[in-house]
Amino acid sequence: MAKKGTISVTTENIFPIIRKWLYSDQDIFIRELVSNGSDAIAKFKRLVDIGEAEKSDDDSYQLHVNYDSENGTIEFIDNGIGMTEEEVDKYINQIAFSGAMDFVEKYKEESTDASGIIGHFGLGFYSAFMVADKVRIDTKSFQKDAPAVSWVSEDGMDYEIAESDRTERGTTITLTLSEETKGIFDGGKIRGILNKYCSFMPFDLYYSDVVADRKREADEAKKKKEAEDKGEEYKGYENTPSPINNTEPLWKKAPKDCTDEEYKEFYREVFHDFKEPLFWIHLNMDFPFHLQGILYFPKTNNVYETLEGRIKIYNHQVFVADNIEEVIPEFLFLLRGCLDCTDLPLNVSRSALQQDEYVKKLSSHIITKVSAKLNDVFKNDRKAFEGYWSDISIFVKYGMMKDEKFYEKVKDICLFKSVDGEFFTIEELTKAKEKDTIRYTKAPDQQAAYISMAKEKGFDVVVLNEELDNNFISFLEYKQHDVKFKRVDAELEGEAASEDEVKALSELFKTATGDDKLEVSAVALGADQLPAFIRETEEARRMAEMRKQFESMRTGKEDDPYKDLDSMFPIKKDLVLNTDHPLVLRLRGMASVADDKEKLDALCVHLYDQARLAHGSLDSEGLKRFLKYNSELLTKVAEKLS
Ligand code: ADP
Ligand code: MG
Repeated sequence: MAKKGTISVTTENIFPIIRKWLYSDQDIFIRELVSNGSDAIAKFKRLVDIGEAEKSDDDSYQLHVNYDSENGTIEFIDNGIGMTEEEVDKYINQIAFSGAMDFVEKYKEESTDASGIIGHFGLGFYSAFMVADKVRIDTKSFQKDAPAVSWVSEDGMDYEIAESDRTERGTTITLTLSEETKGIFDGGKIRGILNKYCSFMPFDLYYSDVVADRKREADEAKKKKEAEDKGEEYKGYENTPSPINNTEPLWKKAPKDCTDEEYKEFYREVFHDFKEPLFWIHLNMDFPFHLQGILYFPKTNNVYETLEGRIKIYNHQVFVADNIEEVIPEFLFLLRGCLDCTDLPLNVSRSALQQDEYVKKLSSHIITKVSAKLNDVFKNDRKAFEGYWSDISIFVKYGMMKDEKFYEKVKDICLFKSVDGEFFTIEELTKAKEKDTIRYTKAPDQQAAYISMAKEKGFDVVVLNEELDNNFISFLEYKQHDVKFKRVDAELEGEAASEDEVKALSELFKTATGDDKLEVSAVALGADQLPAFIRETEEARRMAEMRKQFESMRTGKEDDPYKDLDSMFPIKKDLVLNTDHPLVLRLRGMASVADDKEKLDALCVHLYDQARLAHGSLDSEGLKRFLKYNSELLTKVAEKLS
């Protein structure tokens, strides 16, 4: 006889609230119902293992998801522990709603995405009502002689319990999809969701598109019959269903038993990345918390690549979410991997997660492991480490800026690549060479003249051309007071000329260029170096870079706070003349005789333009002038030769 009842709810309107909440991510009902089946099998298995239940050998643990497009139903079947009538009443009718109360209590204030945590409120089962007009449970407990029961509800509020004709141990949940969701959850969609959440479920999971399978079988049977009628032997293909999941993800295996090929294969399987990972870390610990997983350093230096789905968090092999920044420090999202955090307290709010001691320990443990791995590679195979550098440098630099602990652990192995393709640590660039500055360039080809001078002075010029390098060097200077970075054009070392000399040259170039603000200095840089350079001090250049950022914010209006950028960040570049160079000596000599003032000025302007050209700061007007005059000069030389 059927029994009717109303699920005991203290607050009438609780369900609509949850429904709205859950609505944000309908997909998760599949994960929740499959996990419930998996939990039910795990419970039964435990009983078998301790001898409290019996199982025959040919009875293998299985989960099935069957989609029937004609009837608009989805079945979730397990052969787990099952439920008695009392248990249905207790776990489905009562317990779930106390979970619901907690959920609403904790989340009414918070507007975060709840999909990752719903399962942890004992609400999983009710997620079925997000998509279904009718939910039916058929279940039979493992306990001998327990009658099978059915439970049916159309709205999650009123239910009917009756006897069921189920004969085997386990549970079947049948959803009749609502009109709106029928169109959404087709076979492809369901399959996709199963792949996302259930790929590593601990028990074999089968999927069947019932209508499609039926049609295929009918086709096969027809072909077979036709063949037999003709007296031929029919070799149709045998359709033995196989599980769609991998019940033993590699992270569960002991690291010592895993081969490189297995790690690479697993990476391909999970991330569909055809590029091989550089190296990886297998996390496997039971104390003080359970954490298993594999983190990969991907081969990529493309910062624009999507960060989605990079660090996947699992809970007992069930996918929870990607990139939970409350659990994993954000800079680690540049890596890829799977982490199974069994003890993750997901039943607390995400903002509380950040305060959680366990989560703090977890993330600090991961950071320790990652930096240890980097140090390991650096110490044991420096050449390999250097080979990886271009792929991992963004990760390391970004991590250093984001995380103090990480910074401390990797600061001594952070590398800089020189213009000659060699790699150096900070220590190797400074103390080991008795240098107090690190000379760098952004564009080695453009700054070749400066680079060769710096090299002559014994510097290894490093290339810093990544987007975050500006911030990174400021950060390093702030952290390590004895480290200073200078771009190659920021300093020109040599003996300074006398005051009179500077004054005379300064006059000469000011008049020639018609710019009486031009700063001119004179330094003996060596006879084989260029005659003139532009020097932009490190401070001035960094100011100029800041200025650029502000320029884009200019409004052009009267009250524009950035209208006076010229006085806020004056551009300061000075002309440095190499007093060792014969051309400079010659110009200086001509100045005191000065019989052809016009020619002298033209030569001075030309030299100034050349210096700006080598510096990369010559504007288009200047370039035109430079090329024109240069051609005239070449013509004259050619005429002399002929
Ligand atoms: P939770 O899984 O977090 O406990 P659910 O709402 O998903 O919350 O399920 C409520 C309870 O219903 C479960 O704890 C379990 O006791 C029972 N249950 C749900 N599905 C099954 C199933 N397939 N087999 C046996 N028991 C189940
Ligand atoms: Mg559940």
